[in-house]
Amino acid sequence: MISQNLNKVRSSLKDGVELVAVSKYHPVSELLEAYNAGQRIFGESHVQELVAKYDALPKDIEWHFIGHLQTNKVKYITPFISLIHAVDSMKLLKEINKQALKNGRVVNCLLQLHVAQEETKFGFTPQELVDVLAAGEWKDMTGIHIVGVMCMATNTDDDDQIHREFRLAYDTFCNVKKEFFADDDSFKELSMGMSGDYMIAQYEHSTMVRVGSMIFGNRDYSTKFTI
Ligand SMILES: *Cc1c(COP(=O)(O)O)cnc(C)c1O
Repeated sequence: MISQNLNKVRSSLKDGVELVAVSKYHPVSELLEAYNAGQRIFGESHVQELVAKYDALPKDIEWHFIGHLQTNKVKYITPFISLIHAVDSMKLLKEINKQALKNGRVVNCLLQLHVAQEETKFGFTPQELVDVLAAGEWKDMTGIHIVGVMCMATNTDDDDQIHREFRLAYDTFCNVKKEFFADDDSFKELSMGMSGDYMIAQYEHSTMVRVGSMIFGNRDYSTKFTI
């Protein structure tokens, strides 16, 4: 099932769009199924669960942290994380930088943009993003590398609204690229799109989609994660 689902999602992706298989709440055996079907990029949103899976699974997996990351937990994932998607404050960016330097690493990060109408979603507004980049503090942080922007759309059936939100994210991404990263070819990622809206996200120039339930099925939130 999982490999068939994976192939279905893969064949619906535009050229160059990267697939992050979101495996939170799913057991290691299911991740292995996806791994054996060729998937190498996995996304998780809970630190403990991610660390346990990292320990249990092959070391050529690229782990992405996609959820809200608490500052005090950064140290547990810094030694091995490939990309942190949802950096939503300077405080968090500073802590990632600090832990990365301790580990002798440069950690790739995406800044989270708030484009949804839901108030519960984290992230910088487009203006806040410009302001925080203009302040320039990030330029002195040699332990982090900002490689793009991430966002989530409102959870709604209104496709037009989702288009509008993703379009705002793309416009903001382009502005920021031009103003602050024109000379940095590695600033190129726009992480947007989940199971319910990744086709719209692709249409609006997403470069990276984070797809969970379409690959692994529904998550069971009632049981605590165990290996
Ligand atoms: C869980 C999650 C996803 C995947 O959601 P699905 O609807 O299962 O595809 C994507 N992005 C983030 C930030 C998530 O927390």
